[in-house]
Amino acid sequence: MNFKRLGSFLLSVLLLATLITPKALASNDELERAKQDKKNIAEEKAALQSQVDRKKASIDEVISEMQRLDDAIAGINTVIEELDVKIEEKNQDIEEVKQELVKAQQELEEMEEDLNSRVRVMYMYGNDGYLELLFSSEDFSDFISRADKMAAIMKADKKSVRNIEDKRNEIEVKKDEIEEALAEIEESKEKQVEAKDEQEAKKTEQEAVRAANQQEIDTFMAEIEEKDAAEAEADAKVQQIVAEQQAELERIRQEKQAAAQQGEPDPHPEVELPSETSPTGYLWPVPGVYYITSPFGPRSDVSHFGGSSYHNGIDIGASTGTPCVAIADGVVTEAAYTGGYGNLVIVDFGGGVSGYYGHLNGYAVSAGERVSAGQTVGYVGSTGISSGPHLHFGMLINGGWQNPMNYLPY
Ligand SMILES: [Zn+2]
Repeated sequence: MNFKRLGSFLLSVLLLATLITPKALASNDELERAKQDKKNIAEEKAALQSQVDRKKASIDEVISEMQRLDDAIAGINTVIEELDVKIEEKNQDIEEVKQELVKAQQELEEMEEDLNSRVRVMYMYGNDGYLELLFSSEDFSDFISRADKMAAIMKADKKSVRNIEDKRNEIEVKKDEIEEALAEIEESKEKQVEAKDEQEAKKTEQEAVRAANQQEIDTFMAEIEEKDAAEAEADAKVQQIVAEQQAELERIRQEKQAAAQQGEPDPHPEVELPSETSPTGYLWPVPGVYYITSPFGPRSDVSHFGGSSYHNGIDIGASTGTPCVAIADGVVTEAAYTGGYGNLVIVDFGGGVSGYYGHLNGYAVSAGERVSAGQTVGYVGSTGISSGPHLHFGMLINGGWQNPMNYLPY
């Protein structure tokens, strides 16, 4: 091959390259980038959400710890009430002992007075006084009587002194009892105050931890809201590129059609258009469950994932755990938590058709796995942004969301 021929060969390759790279295909890179942006945002959002979940879990822990403290405080309050009753009883005891003490002291005073008066008499008469009194008896019987009386008086005096000593001891014991009871009351009260202070301090600490967690959650939630907006923007960009591609493909299709009608050669032999006929033979994704809770297309409910007023799939209401199946043979391209979709399984059914199974409770397959029609790929759940258990089923055909109801048996 000489240089001239090589040059014209290269030129024709270049021309061919331009020819087989229509706008629709050229923007594929852009589409991939937009999709990647959206995926990245969804992943960031999912990461934030899992941080929120962790914070919520730790708040739950704090709350149950606070509950335990409340129970402990209630227990302490019961003990305090019991102590109050005991203190009341002790106070009554003290009151009784005090009265007994007053009585004992009165008795003591009387005894002392009594003894004092007799001691005064003895002092006045002395022991001679006794004898004088004895010997001045009128007769023998008077003598016996006086001797008996004197013996009785002397015995009574001895007893009085003993009684006084007993009384004094009794008073000392009662005073000790009162002091002991008062000390016990003081101790109980101190324990009550200590226990209460300790619990209050712990509660304050827990409350601070809870508030700090809540503040972090609020911050994360604000970030998630920002991510929602960014995600919606990224999604809009994907939609826009897909729409442009579809318009481009539509233009090519019309040009091909016009050329065919004129008997002219295909102006875009390099572009193979998707089949005009709808694919058939698909299975229903949730066998036996045909309850559509939200159809494909525009809708007023903006609470759904993405906050978009355009629903890019259908929602099939079913109870948590209901199996979801592959609608055809295919390859699992994703089985992972993906932002608002929650647990998401994507199956590539070939021919540019992918099925999105969103909000799953769990997976039955993993990425890269080959699945056959009717094989369970996951289970209905309510993960991601979802208000209740359902399967969000989306059909992406050649990069554009299509209404699955146009393809599925229903
Ligand atoms: Zn949905």
